[in-house]
Amino acid sequence: MSSLDLKKVAIIGRPNVGKSTLFNIITDTRKSVVKNQPGVTRDIIIEPVSLWGKEFDLIDTGGITESKDLFSQLIREQVQDFLATVDLILVVMDGRSGLIPEDRDIIRIAQQTGKPFSIIVNKIDKVHEEEIAKADFYEFGADIIPASFEQRRGVGDILEWITSKIPLREEDAEVRPLTIAIVGKPNVGKSSLCNRILGTSRMLVSDVAGTTVDAVDTAFIRNERHYILIDTAGLRRSAKREEDVEIIAAFKSQESIRKANLCLLMVDSLIGPTEQDAKILESIMDDHKGVILVANKIDLAQKQIPEFKKTFREQVEKTFHFFEDIKIIYTSAEKGYGLDELFEEIEKTEQQMNLKLSTSDLNNFFFDTIRKAPAPVFGTTNVKFYYLTQTNQRPPAFIAFANHPDGVTNAYRRFLIKNIKERWNLWGIPIRIFCMKSRGS
Ligand code: GDP
Repeated sequence: MSSLDLKKVAIIGRPNVGKSTLFNIITDTRKSVVKNQPGVTRDIIIEPVSLWGKEFDLIDTGGITESKDLFSQLIREQVQDFLATVDLILVVMDGRSGLIPEDRDIIRIAQQTGKPFSIIVNKIDKVHEEEIAKADFYEFGADIIPASFEQRRGVGDILEWITSKIPLREEDAEVRPLTIAIVGKPNVGKSSLCNRILGTSRMLVSDVAGTTVDAVDTAFIRNERHYILIDTAGLRRSAKREEDVEIIAAFKSQESIRKANLCLLMVDSLIGPTEQDAKILESIMDDHKGVILVANKIDLAQKQIPEFKKTFREQVEKTFHFFEDIKIIYTSAEKGYGLDELFEEIEKTEQQMNLKLSTSDLNNFFFDTIRKAPAPVFGTTNVKFYYLTQTNQRPPAFIAFANHPDGVTNAYRRFLIKNIKERWNLWGIPIRIFCMKSRGS
């Protein structure tokens, strides 16, 4: 998992020590604890928490750590595997019953993860009992927090402990400039579009005209948003030596795609998309970059091709059969048509690429969706999913935790991706789902 992920904080402990109460206090919910969702994570509840400028996912592990068979190897491994996916652990104990063998076992599991954990001694209803209750737990060398959830005592200390372990939120994705690359075959109008865009936007850095410099990226502002256009100098210089043009173009577009967040794949409307464009699109997809198809020279196409948009669409579906949901914007770089539509689409795509779904929304959707289709099969068992979480990448990427990630076929992945796209209107956004192991029963 990348370090940009929301930190995951798990509450573990025996039955009735107060895990759900703590969960409800911190998340400020009174939601009844939904257990026994058939087939899947019947017992893990996740809620994002935003507190004092910090954000994390709080996880009530209820059912898995409450199992009577915590001593059974299988359940134990399941808990261990799950805890390997979290960042911080809160071990809740009952201060009134003192330290019993099951507590030791749970604490040992927490210790073995190597993750920071604190021992919360609950049900200390009188302040003077605190020291006595704590004494039992000193041997574990963890931070000990006495509390009474019923009286709301100790909760502040718990929150302080959590937030002290969580770094401040990363700079919001939205304020980073969007890096755009215009790619496509020679002579489709890339340089012309580039000039159009820069000619009608506020430039932040002017490159020195006429100097033979390496590719210079140009920063500009349009509709109050910051962008960086890649390889502008190279585009505007527009190699005119006929030989080399194709090779240079192919090389340059690879370079640009790698640097970009969003690619404008430009094609000549008169010609339509070709196999070469399909190859470029494939590299964009392989690099998981956002993409908009720009059909240029519509001033000519409109005159020469009857119903040209319809014809063009059909060509797109035929040529890009593996990615038919691509957005198309029609432009004339020469006449300056279509620029507003293009930037509207760029803004929309950027928003979708920066989409951050709450873990609870995501999982409600996820479990609804996987019920709709037969579970993938691994060997003789069904693949069982535990939960889905979003990584902080743009475009959005997800991690699904399952008992047998190898059983999640590409077809099943595509099924999930298609449903995510439908649910959150993410057409044209290359979404990825990683599967990670988490052992089940
Ligand atoms: P690049 O190789 O993709 O950078 O293409 P250029 O921007 O150099 O354009 C190739 C040729 O197409 C030039 O002669 C441009 O003037 C012309 N061109 C570019 N955009 C348009 C357009 O929208 N309509 C028309 N009619 N011609 C265009």
